[in-house]
Amino acid sequence: MDKPKTVKILKFYPEKCEGGLGCEKACSQVHFKSDEGGDKSAIRIFKSGNSYKMYVCNQRGLCIDICPVGALYRRKNGIVWLDKEICIGCQSCVGFCPIGAMRKSSARIEPFKCISCGACVRACPNGALELVEVNIDNIKEVVYHKQGV
Ligand code: SF4
Ligand code: SF4
Repeated sequence: MDKPKTVKILKFYPEKCEGGLGCEKACSQVHFKSDEGGDKSAIRIFKSGNSYKMYVCNQRGLCIDICPVGALYRRKNGIVWLDKEICIGCQSCVGFCPIGAMRKSSARIEPFKCISCGACVRACPNGALELVEVNIDNIKEVVYHKQGV
């Protein structure tokens, strides 16, 4: 099978964000059928000075080789996927992720992450989030450069 070349990732426009956290609530619906947001959301928005910062998986997939049981892999659409049926809840990927985007909640032992479903994009009343298609090789290069590898 050909490897996927592109993947959709979330882009954030902080100047449009008002901190209503509709995105977090939408995401926790996707993952936990709950509108709590917060620890049950794969996307997190935090105030930073007079603005906001977004923290979410960028689908670089550096964690894929860390999983001891092969529960992490890249799907045909490029998304890095965590298979809950295979995962043993060791939390290695949670500790490893350089941007803290592999999340854990008190609700279950298996971590969770952004799957680029777009529910948060649709939930934002201000258009502060967008799914954009990027080249997978390019996003990997950026992170290796930053880490000096
Ligand atoms: S928590 Fe699950 S997905 Fe993450 S490294 Fe451990 S077994 Fe793999
Ligand atoms: S795209 Fe889906 S999984 Fe990713 S942060 Fe938004 S709602 Fe959550």
